[in-house]
Amino acid sequence: MDSEKNTIWHKGHLIKQDRNCLNMHDSGVIWFTGLSASGKSTIAHLTEKKLFEEKIRSYVFDGDNIRHGLNVNLGFSDDDRKENVRRIVEVAKLFVDAGIVMLAAFITPFREQREYIRNRCKDMKYIEIYVKCDIEECVRRDPKGLYKKARSGIIKNYTGISSPFEEPANPDLILDTSVLSIDDSVARVIEHIKATNFLKLT
Ligand code: ADP
Repeated sequence: MDSEKNTIWHKGHLIKQDRNCLNMHDSGVIWFTGLSASGKSTIAHLTEKKLFEEKIRSYVFDGDNIRHGLNVNLGFSDDDRKENVRRIVEVAKLFVDAGIVMLAAFITPFREQREYIRNRCKDMKYIEIYVKCDIEECVRRDPKGLYKKARSGIIKNYTGISSPFEEPANPDLILDTSVLSIDDSVARVIEHIKATNFLKLT
C-alpha cells in the first residue's frame, strides 16, 4: 500500500497491557456470525449489558449500524463485502488495543471472510460464535421485514434467500436459537467467556 510506504508508526507511551491493567481485564474480539434474524444483535447487546454490570468494558459493533456511518459508501458486491469486513476488523483491533471487548454482530456468511478475520485477530483473544437458526424460523421472525423483500426480489443477494450462508466448520461456540431462549444464549456466552479465561490478564 502506498500510504503504508510513506508513513511511520508512531509509538505511544502506553500499550494494550497498560490499558488492560487499568480496566482490570483483558480485551479481545467476540464475533457473532449467523443468518439475519438468528439473534446476533439481540444476544450481543444483552451480553454487553451483563458485562457492563460486571464492570467489564465492552462495545457492540452491529452490521446495520456500521453501514449507516463508517461503511455508508459500501454496497453488497463481492469487493464491497470484502472492504466492509476489512474496515470492521481494523476498527475492532483498535478497540481491543484501547482495552475494550468487541462484540461484533455481522452475518459474515463466507468461510473465507471468517478465516480472514480470525487470522487478522491471531495476536489477541478471539471467540467465534455461530448463532445458528434455521432459515424458516428466521423468515418467520423477520424483525425488519427484509426476508419478505428478499423473497419478492426487491432486495438482491440476500443471505439465506439469494446468497449462500456457509456454515462455520469450527466455531468456538454454537448457540442454536431455534431451541435456546435469548437469556439462555446470553448465559452460555458469559459461561464461555469465564471458562476460557477470556478476560484474565496475561
Ligand atoms: P440478527 O442480529 O441476527 O439479524 P436480531 O437480534 O436483530 O438478529 O433479531 C432476532 C429477532 O428474533 C429479535 O426480534 C429477537 O427478539 C427474536 N428472537 C426470538 N426468539 C429468539 C431467540 N431464542 N434467540 C434470539 N432471538 C430471538
